[in-house]
Order: sequence, then structure tokens, then C-alpha cells
Amino acid sequence: MRGHCAVQNCSGGKSDSQPLFRFPLESERCKQWLDKCQREDLNDKPADQLYKYERLCGKHFQPSAFVDSEGQSVVLKDDAVPTIFDSPATAQTSHGKRKEAGKVDEKDIKGRKKMKKPDTEPASNTPVSEEDENREYLKSLFEIVLLLGGNNIPPTDPEDEHENRQSNFQALLEYRIHSGDETLRKKWDENKEKFPEELKNLIEVCEQYIRGKLVEEVQQNGHFSLLTDELVIISGEMFLPFFVRFVDKSNCQRESFLGLVPFSGDEDVLAEKLLAEITEKWGLKMEQCKGQAHSCSGTHSSKIKKFAAKVTENSQQQYSV
Ligand SMILES: [Zn+2]
Repeated sequence: MRGHCAVQNCSGGKSDSQPLFRFPLESERCKQWLDKCQREDLNDKPADQLYKYERLCGKHFQPSAFVDSEGQSVVLKDDAVPTIFDSPATAQTSHGKRKEAGKVDEKDIKGRKKMKKPDTEPASNTPVSEEDENREYLKSLFEIVLLLGGNNIPPTDPEDEHENRQSNFQALLEYRIHSGDETLRKKWDENKEKFPEELKNLIEVCEQYIRGKLVEEVQQNGHFSLLTDELVIISGEMFLPFFVRFVDKSNCQRESFLGLVPFSGDEDVLAEKLLAEITEKWGLKMEQCKGQAHSCSGTHSSKIKKFAAKVTENSQQQYSV
């Protein structure tokens, strides 16, 4: 996707911060946009390509082309057609077009030659598939999750709902929608309701992927130490944080966070549950575990001891056989 306007010599999206709008997917309207912006090099591109990669900036639309939303967002009406262009050759309202027809004859002929192809090409009538749209939508969502993660910003806060405010995730998402990401807007409108569930899934996928890579590296190294930290309480529930210490590919000792496991239930059941989580679900091989350290104090220390014993039992069992 281009981060600037498709009109030649237009500064929209470059030096001039303007909202950018995708070319319409619907081929007839896409052609209308294309006719206006005089980019012959784009004439033989199918609508779905233009939709994906080209943008027009807000300067080319009359105020009446926008959905009025009290300045909250910049959204084009479904039938909006750009009409405002600087250079005389492109300043064509339907009125002006007829008048200037003689002048632009030469250009028209050139244009027509090139236009012949897309007219017969079925591709220009094929709209972007649902699958492509979903893919692009998911890509945007993942980008937001990763951006937040990389900056240590929580995507949501349990307080958000109480105080009836937007989550960080939603705020970033709407920012992207307002800057002209039409697929995102459409998909967001369709999926808003399911959103909290969807976000949970997204984060889970990211978490699994990152942990998968880490466990893979630990396994290649051959052995590791298992560490746990003090219990943490999230939304009223207790979790045990797990870390792994190992020597990585560059021969450096590393300590990395593996994940949180719910910490509830009675001693024996809990010990089994914790072990199952880190071995079956996360893929750690206990025969590679050469040490462990836990820093739990107080009332829960007996549960941790039970778990530690279970780990020892499992790793010894594995090597003694
Ligand atoms: Zn522009």
C-alpha cells in the first residue's frame, strides 16, 4: 500500500497530512476514480490491485462526498467520486469534461489504447475475495497487538469497561481506520460484537508463537533450568509465572519468560496440572531440565514444594531409564 496520493504532483499523504482513501473495489466506480486522476500507467491495473495499492487523498473530494460524523472520523460516502484536481487537464467535473473534449483528444486516444486491455480482462471485475479481506484485517490486528506488545502497553485494561472508555487496542485500531483503511473499517463494523473474544484469540496466537520459538531454541540447546517467580494476581485470579534459563545460540546465558499458569486447586492436582501445562502444552522436555529455582514464600510454598518434587521426579525418572 502506498502511503501517499496517486495523483501526480499531489503532496497528499507526503508533505501534506491528508486522509487517504482506497480506490473502490467495484470496477465501474474504480474506473470513474481512475479517469479523474490521469494516471495512464494505472489504466491496465485491475480494480482489486488499485484497491489494494492505490490511494487518493482527501483534497480531491467535495465536502459533500464525506459522511458527516461530527468531525470524529473521515469517512467517504459509498458513492463518492473525486472531483477536485489542480491541473487544468484533470479538472473535469462532468460539465467541464464535455467542454474540453476537443483539447484532450490526443490524451484520450492514448488513454483508450491502454484502456482496451482492462475492459476485456475479467480480473478487473473480480472483487477482492473474502479471504483476502480477512487476511488483511487480521494482518492489521496482529500489527496492532505487536506494536502494543513491543511498547509494553496493555491492549485492554479491566477498568476500561467500568469507566466506559476505549481500550488502547481500540484506540489504535480507530486511528488506523480514520487514516483511510477501508477494509479495516468494514471488517471492524462486522466484527465489533465478537471483539473481546477475538482479541483474546489474537493474543493467544501471538503468545503461542513466541513461546514456541523459545521452546524450540531451548530444546536445541539441550538443557535448561526452570524458574518460577512470586505469584501474580490478574483479575482476582492467581497465576504462577514461569521462566526458563538456558544458553542460547550465541553462547550467552539467557533468562526468558515462558508464560503464566493458573495457580489454584489442591496440592497434588495442582502439581500435576502445572507439569502438564509446561510439558504437554508448551513442549518443554523434562529430561532436559537440569535445575530449578522457585521464590514463592508464605502460604503457597507447600504447593510449590510439591510441584518442585514432581519436576525432580520427572526429570530423574527420565534419565534413569
Ligand atoms: Zn491528492
